[in-house]
Amino acid sequence: MPLGLADSLAVLPGLFWLLLPIAAASGWWLARHASHQPDREHTDPSNYVKGLNYLLDDQTDQALEVLTRLTDAHRETIDSQLILGNLLRRRGETDRAIYVHHSLLNRANLNDAQRQRALLELGEDYTAAGLLDRAEELFQRLLDLPVQQDYQRVEYQALALHKLIRVYEQGKEWPQALAHCDRLEQTTGQIRRTEAAQYCCELAQQAYRHQQLDTAMQHLNRAVQRNTACTRAYLLQAQVAIDQSADHTALTYLYAVEHHNPLRLYEALDALTACHERTATPQVFIDWLYGAYERYGFSWLAVHLARYLAAQQDTTTALDFITQVLDTQPSFVVLRTWLELREPPVNDDITPRLLRVSQQLLDATACYQCNQCGFTSKVLHWQCPSCTRWETLYPLPDLTCRTPQS
Ligand SMILES: [Zn+2]
Repeated sequence: MPLGLADSLAVLPGLFWLLLPIAAASGWWLARHASHQPDREHTDPSNYVKGLNYLLDDQTDQALEVLTRLTDAHRETIDSQLILGNLLRRRGETDRAIYVHHSLLNRANLNDAQRQRALLELGEDYTAAGLLDRAEELFQRLLDLPVQQDYQRVEYQALALHKLIRVYEQGKEWPQALAHCDRLEQTTGQIRRTEAAQYCCELAQQAYRHQQLDTAMQHLNRAVQRNTACTRAYLLQAQVAIDQSADHTALTYLYAVEHHNPLRLYEALDALTACHERTATPQVFIDWLYGAYERYGFSWLAVHLARYLAAQQDTTTALDFITQVLDTQPSFVVLRTWLELREPPVNDDITPRLLRVSQQLLDATACYQCNQCGFTSKVLHWQCPSCTRWETLYPLPDLTCRTPQS
């Protein structure tokens, strides 16, 4: 059932902006050709309306057919061609999109804005096709394009820089990504603290994999300089310190995580446990865990504390604590930990079955979720694979795949 125009625009705000230039281009074209009507089929206004309706109804096949016929017949309608190419790319037909945008760029009669837009679109086509070198070349051209109007230059330079940074991220070219973050800041004043610090962490991780600990530490110090709240940098600094047998230093880095983002303590718990064991300070850790659970109420802190109490002190203390948590803040993982710690009745065949089933449920569930797009994962990604934002995956509030430590 076709949607009314108002309804369609209400539910499809993105499409609205896509359609505006088509409507403008069609109006211009109709006005220009109203007097001489060379071809009934191509000048018939109902064809434009038909194309727009197809788009509003999400019938992109039919919309493409109409738009292709119109742009084939009237190649002077530059805006329509830009939109046609854009539509083709969105449908995954990158070869055809590249052809349309490339043909457009070869035309001599483009004004500054149209040339900038065509370069941008062609760069997007190459990015979508995975031809990152060509995309980079296009966006660099856009960056250096001489443009008369200052406001246009800054606007398109900013766009080109954003696209270039994305290309470098895809290609894992972190030094270039970092350099273009700086250029973006110089050009537009936009600061990408989170991303820049993450690029430094990526470089640190590379150095760490090659056992270049000093180089890794230099990158991490730069990460913290760019973003003092970069918890990934503190976690990696702790890892480097642990490798250098500097457990006290590692503890300083690990506790810095709490100050900047308590949710990231989830990533620090294993290292905190190991460092406190090696420095023979388990009671300090237990006191801190009690305090942290009181401050934040995360189920995974209660579970970690209960298991640590069972390992360091006795099962009764651990069971008393987790029973209290179960009564006041029940959750699946707390219930499971209570089952683990509880002394099962004689001839009890229910507890082993419940433990097995709950483990299967935990194995089947994700541990992290992106707070921007909802993507879920078993493992932590510092950059969301779905929406490509950085530092948006966090532990799910209840379920956790963290298994008991042996
Ligand atoms: Zn996401």
